[in-house]
Amino acid sequence: MRYQSTRNHSISVTPQEAVLHGLAEDGGLFVPSEPLPLLKSEDYLNKSYQDTAQNVLSILLDGYSKDELHRSITSAYDTRFNSTDIVPLTKVSDGWLMELWHGPTSAFKDIALTILPHLLSEAYGEKGRDDTIAILTATSGDTGKAALSGFADVPHTAITIFYPSDGVSEIQKLQMQTSRGNNVMVVAVRGNFDDCQRMVKEACRSKAVLNACHHVTISSANSINIGRLAPQVVYYFTSYSKLVSNGTIQAGDPVNFVVPTGNFGDILAGYLAKQMGLPVKRLICASNSNHVLTDFLNTGTYSVHRPFHLTMSPSMDILISSNLERLLYFESKDDSFAASCMEQLKNEGSYTIPEDMLKNIRSIFSGYWTDEESCRKEIRTLFENEHVLIDPHTAVAYHAMHEYQKETGDQIPCIVLSTASPYKFAKDVLSCISSQVPEDPFAAMQKLSSLSNTEIPAGLAELKDLPIRFHTVIENQDGISFITKRMEELSHD
Ligand SMILES: *Cc1c(COP(=O)(O)O)cnc(C)c1O
Repeated sequence: MRYQSTRNHSISVTPQEAVLHGLAEDGGLFVPSEPLPLLKSEDYLNKSYQDTAQNVLSILLDGYSKDELHRSITSAYDTRFNSTDIVPLTKVSDGWLMELWHGPTSAFKDIALTILPHLLSEAYGEKGRDDTIAILTATSGDTGKAALSGFADVPHTAITIFYPSDGVSEIQKLQMQTSRGNNVMVVAVRGNFDDCQRMVKEACRSKAVLNACHHVTISSANSINIGRLAPQVVYYFTSYSKLVSNGTIQAGDPVNFVVPTGNFGDILAGYLAKQMGLPVKRLICASNSNHVLTDFLNTGTYSVHRPFHLTMSPSMDILISSNLERLLYFESKDDSFAASCMEQLKNEGSYTIPEDMLKNIRSIFSGYWTDEESCRKEIRTLFENEHVLIDPHTAVAYHAMHEYQKETGDQIPCIVLSTASPYKFAKDVLSCISSQVPEDPFAAMQKLSSLSNTEIPAGLAELKDLPIRFHTVIENQDGISFITKRMEELSHD
């Protein structure tokens, strides 16, 4: 399997090179050059998470040897997850919750970021160079900590995280500022997530930055990297398989997935699973008040000319959903089309896709968005009726599922991707179910724990006592010079 740029099919690389570089040199994203082979049902029904991962990744990353994949999978999906299923599936009255937050930082990003460092170092080993891989990553909250945790003290790597100074939760900020490891750096940027993401993308192509790199290779841990995307395809298969095993459906029956969406990575992984033969009927794209994707799916016009809102679901406070570029490529099979949309987006802040392409996209994807009040109501109602706690991102998706079911009457099972532990957003979640919310987030976690009779994840409980290691704040426009300096520091002979 070769990967090519969404913007130019003549830029063609192996999966290892795609993982190492993150972004193609023309600024495009890597996509498979050929149609994906189908995964046979015996390759995912009644299999462990790890075995399904092996079978899925053997297809998507087929330049890696079986052994390399096996080593990476067993190093990633081990006892650092507090569920032997890795991704358990829970029944609620109206559907199913796919719990993606049992990893070390209690966020779904752990699924990909526990394995990415291993995929990178296997790719690096093959190249046999003595470079340092400098990971640059923008985060709207959860990616940052998951990447810091995954890369801490991994040989030949150094990681720098950029987060919006006022755009992440108190707990998310603490999680990053207290990170361990001698190869990690955490920087707050005065700006929003899109500013951070633009900064990282620009840095990857900046002459000043590249000239500062001696024996340093820049890569990214953002969801634009196929090493992030490919591992996310796995849990669509494992959760489908669970519904077959528990008798809810028969093998081959269709299901819907509802995905709380920001950068469009998670839902795109579902789209790849469908291409690989998983019986997916609909992918329901759930947004918060920043509903640029809902509007795109309804009208065919993607436009960033709109207010930006800070919400209770900060990982979805995004106006430029990078992975949508991959969908544009897949649906047009035309690299010049994706390139021209991205050019228009950059110059004019919007683009419109042709009617027939929109129709095809809408035959798979539906979009719904949820305001803050409805999100709160979903959290409260589910807790009051079923004693189940969900975080605000999951609540946005849960609401979208209800809207979808109301609008269409569709009765087939819906699996909601539950992307964060409610404890990561303890104060907001508590405020939905109780009128008294302590100022201190740790007191809020404690209260949430006694009300719900569930345990505070260890990685969150310990934050209270860890020293803060990182205080750096930079202006948005100083990003490139900051990164240039950091690359100089990491450079060596
Ligand atoms: C990152 C994240 C999302 C959005 O996922 P994308 O792949 O960016 O669409 C949703 N919920 C949580 C909790 C996240 O951390």
